[in-house]
Amino acid sequence: MSRCPLCGEVIKWEDLVEQMLVVDNFQELLKDKDSFLSVLNSFAFKCPKCGEEFYGNNLNQNEASKVFELLNEFNGSIDYENNKVRLKLTNLLALDLMLEEWDKRVKNSR
Ligand SMILES: [Zn+2]
Repeated sequence: MSRCPLCGEVIKWEDLVEQMLVVDNFQELLKDKDSFLSVLNSFAFKCPKCGEEFYGNNLNQNEASKVFELLNEFNGSIDYENNKVRLKLTNLLALDLMLEEWDKRVKNSR
């Protein structure tokens, strides 16, 4: 879960990625994880609740790298004409985490 470091509000990853769509050559960034993460880390996001800006390096890096994978995994995950992220990234991350936990539990019970 990603939160605003200033007010603690939960911010959806799809909203965060939508803010990043203004970056030139965003589509190119999706081809390379390292450049995606480095742009994300130095990007100034704006919290929809308190309106303050914060840098992406305050966000959960593990989630950020999963977001990169999810955006690549699904064709048409981003609607560039309307600057919209079609994927429910936050829900997918939660599901991903749940499956990981479940996997761990299954392995431990063997
Ligand atoms: Zn905030």
